Amino acid sequence: MIQEDVLCSFCGCLCDDITVEVEADQIKRVRHACRLGASKIMGHERIKGPMIRRNGVLTDATYQEAYDRTAEILESARHPLLYGWASTVCEAQKIGILMAEEMGGVIDSTATVCHGPSIIGIEEKGLAGATLGQIKNRADLIIFWGCNPAEAHPRHTLRYSSNVCGRFTPDGRAGRKVIVVDVRETRTSKNADLFVRINPGEDYQVISALRMMLAGKGDLMPDMVGGIPKKALFDVVEMMKAAKFGVFFFGLGMTHSRGRYKNIDNALSLVNELNAHTKFIVMPMRGHYNVAGIGQCAAWETGFPMSIDFARGSAYFNPGETAGCDVLARGEVDAALVVAADPASNFPRRIVESLAKIPVVQIDPYENPTTLLADVVIPSAIAGIEAEGTAYRMDGLALRMKKLVSSTYPSDEEILKGILESVRLLKKRTEKAKEA
Ligand code: SF4
Repeated sequence: MIQEDVLCSFCGCLCDDITVEVEADQIKRVRHACRLGASKIMGHERIKGPMIRRNGVLTDATYQEAYDRTAEILESARHPLLYGWASTVCEAQKIGILMAEEMGGVIDSTATVCHGPSIIGIEEKGLAGATLGQIKNRADLIIFWGCNPAEAHPRHTLRYSSNVCGRFTPDGRAGRKVIVVDVRETRTSKNADLFVRINPGEDYQVISALRMMLAGKGDLMPDMVGGIPKKALFDVVEMMKAAKFGVFFFGLGMTHSRGRYKNIDNALSLVNELNAHTKFIVMPMRGHYNVAGIGQCAAWETGFPMSIDFARGSAYFNPGETAGCDVLARGEVDAALVVAADPASNFPRRIVESLAKIPVVQIDPYENPTTLLADVVIPSAIAGIEAEGTAYRMDGLALRMKKLVSSTYPSDEEILKGILESVRLLKKRTEKAKEA
């Protein structure tokens, strides 16, 4: 059977034009996906079954045993952390938020260690946005700042941005200008009309210089800013003003350089000001396929996009105090449920040491370094391949993912519902025992 228009559940591009050949309920061939996407869809080594750590060793268990042990861990915790959520569907994320609320825990997503500064910047300043479809059809100037889609989002330029032909951009790459701003040469910068190599950590100064030039105050600037001569920055401003529809894509090179969310705030201001001259939009290059989705779900359920603490009985948000790393660093959480993420690889070492001191439950199709810390491991079906669900593309467009093949593994949503049921039962039993 040939399945067409399949979504790729790997990166934030959520490509929706993949063709998958299925025979005898097994995926045989994948077409149109990049190598990263094809490798995920074809599948690779995964966790065989649920495991519980007994006497220091992970040993086989049934799903119900794993749910019950997880319920014991979460129910006995005073302040659990529910972390991850970027590589699962919105239906599972919604249950995670409900669990955090019922348990008075903290729910946080992997965004806090990637585009968290972008979210804070956008909250402060607002976002002049567009869909990737609008960019494909209209943009004639593409800026990639601190990002390298050629390697991190391999089909981005071919489907949505610099190299694709659109309705009003029939010449594709030949009809568009591309500027890359980065601290080093990349595969993306090799495709650029103009590569601006700035000094590490000086994004804020360079954006401020562009804003000054745009405001006609370039004569007040020094000759060099961020390692770039004034004349080269002036050329960038002229290219931006001359565009009919410009796009400012930015990545972790900007969110993780000195200034963090203030860099984003400054870039959003630059784009707002450019709109006095021409049409310009700005978009973060989101990494995991549904990291945008957990922000959306959390915002509509709680009013906040990440780092939400329910310890007070209502949602409280203050990144720097309530992010996963913050509460682990202060030893404030006493259990962790990790869903579709790998904090042991992505958190700073000191934070991973704190995580290793508390009981950890992992829900994931694949083994990763977090598995080594886990006390309960629950393998799940792969969303978008073995389970259907909703995900948000990097531009905020919600898309529905199909189930392509059947699986003996339950979905993340089913696992979380099973755990929640066990937690509620345990709570009732404890309350009855107290009354008696
Ligand atoms: Fe999948 Fe991203 Fe590659 Fe598209 S660009 S096929 S979403 S990994």
